Amino acid sequence: MSLDHVETLECTLCGATYDPERVIYTCPNHDGVTGILDVTYDYDVIQDRFDAPLDGHVDSQWKYDAFLPVDTDATPVTLDEGGTDLLDAPRLGAELGVDLAVKNDGANPTGCFKDRATSVAVTKARFGGQDVVTCASTGNAAASLAGYAARAGLDARIFVPAAAPEGKLVQPRVYGADVLAVDGSYDEAYDLSLEVTDTYGWYNRNAAINPFQIEGKRTVGHELAEQTQGAVPDWIVFSMGDGCTIAGCWKGFREFAELGYVDDTPRMLGVQSAGASAIHDAFHGHDDVDDVADTLADAIAVGRPRNTLKACRALEESGGTALAVPDEDILSAVTTLGGTEGIYAEPAGAAPVAGIRRAREEGIIEAGESVVAVVTGMGLKDTAGANEAVGDVTGIAPSLDAVEATYGAPEPGATDGAAAAYTDLDG
Ligand SMILES: *Cc1c(COP(=O)(O)O)cnc(C)c1O
Ligand SMILES: [Zn+2]
Repeated sequence: MSLDHVETLECTLCGATYDPERVIYTCPNHDGVTGILDVTYDYDVIQDRFDAPLDGHVDSQWKYDAFLPVDTDATPVTLDEGGTDLLDAPRLGAELGVDLAVKNDGANPTGCFKDRATSVAVTKARFGGQDVVTCASTGNAAASLAGYAARAGLDARIFVPAAAPEGKLVQPRVYGADVLAVDGSYDEAYDLSLEVTDTYGWYNRNAAINPFQIEGKRTVGHELAEQTQGAVPDWIVFSMGDGCTIAGCWKGFREFAELGYVDDTPRMLGVQSAGASAIHDAFHGHDDVDDVADTLADAIAVGRPRNTLKACRALEESGGTALAVPDEDILSAVTTLGGTEGIYAEPAGAAPVAGIRRAREEGIIEAGESVVAVVTGMGLKDTAGANEAVGDVTGIAPSLDAVEATYGAPEPGATDGAAAAYTDLDG
C-alpha cells in the first residue's frame, strides 16, 4: 500500500498543510468551506513510476495513473473515461478565423468530462471502505457519480435542483441512484449536501471541496499536452461553472510542461454565461458580484462558484482571461458546432465556441491562432434546450408531392449519377 507520491493537502488561502491520508475536505481555519485544499505531489516518485510512452495514443485516463492521488494498491473504478479525441475542426475554424481543434469530452461514458473526476473519487471512496457516496449537482455530476457508484457497488444519494433538465434527472435513476430533487437552486442543493456529509459521514464527491476530485480533471490537461506535443496550442477554451475544470486542466498541462514532456503552455480562456458570471466578475475585479444564476446553460448555472480562486489562478498563471457571453450566443453556438462539425454539445459544452467568437471580436484571440475548444458535455440529455435553437420540425404528408412542395421539382437528369453507378456495379 502506498500513497507516497502525494505530499500534502495545502490550503489555497493560508498555506496550512494536511495529511492526505486523512479524510478532510477543506481547511478548518476559515469560515464555511472557503479554505479549498490543493493536492501537492512528489514528482520524483511519480516520474519513477510513470513509464507510459507519450506517443499520442491515450485509451483511458488511467494511462496517467502515476499522477492520480490514489493508493498504488487501489483497483480503478472505470468505464473507460478519458482518451477522448482531439478533432480538427476546419469548417468551424474558418468561420471563427482560427486554427481550431475540438477536444470531444462529451464522448465520455456518461456523456460528460466529469467522469474523469468521478472515476478517481469513487476509486478512492471504495478503497477507503465507504459505502455511500453523495454530491450536489446541476445534473451531470449526478449522472456521473451514479454511474460510477453502480460500477463500484456503492450507494449514491444525490441532490439536484428540481429544475434540472429531465434527461439529467432520469439518467442517474437508471444507474440506480437516489435522486433528491431540491426545491431550490444549485447553490442551495450544494449547501444541503455539505450538511448531509457532516451529519451522515457519506463520501462527498463535490468537485470544489473534495480536493481529490479536481485531480482527476488534470488528465484532460495531460491528454491535451500529449496530443498537441510539438505544436502546443495558443489557447485552450473551457466553460466555467464552479471553476474546477479549467483549473484542473491547467494544473495537468503545467505539470507536463514542468516535467519537460512539452515545451510550452497554452493560455486558458474561461467562458461563462452573462447570467452566471461570478468567476468572470472576480477575475476582472468587479465588486458588485451578483450571486444569482440565470442561464439556460444549466451545467454552468452556478451563482456562488466554489473554486473561483483556483480558476482565477489558472487564468492568471497561463496569461489567459475570462469572458461572459449572453445565452443567445451560447444557444447559437450549439447549432453552429453541430452544423459545421457534427458535434452535438449541451449549451455549457458549446459555450467555448461562443467565447472564441467573442474573443476574436475583442481582439483577445488573433486571426489564425491555434485554439482548442473543449466540449465538456454532449447534447442528448437536454433536447428541450436545443429545440429552442433549431425551431419546429417540418411536417409533411407521406407523398412525393409533399417533398416537391418543399424542394420543388427535381432538376432534369438528377438521377443520372446514380444510374451510372448502378451500371458500373453491373460491370
Ligand atoms: C460541470 C460542467 C462544467 C463546468 O465545470 P466546473 O468545474 O464546474 O467549472 C462545464 N460543462 C459541463 C458540461 C459540465 O457538466
Ligand atoms: Zn487555510
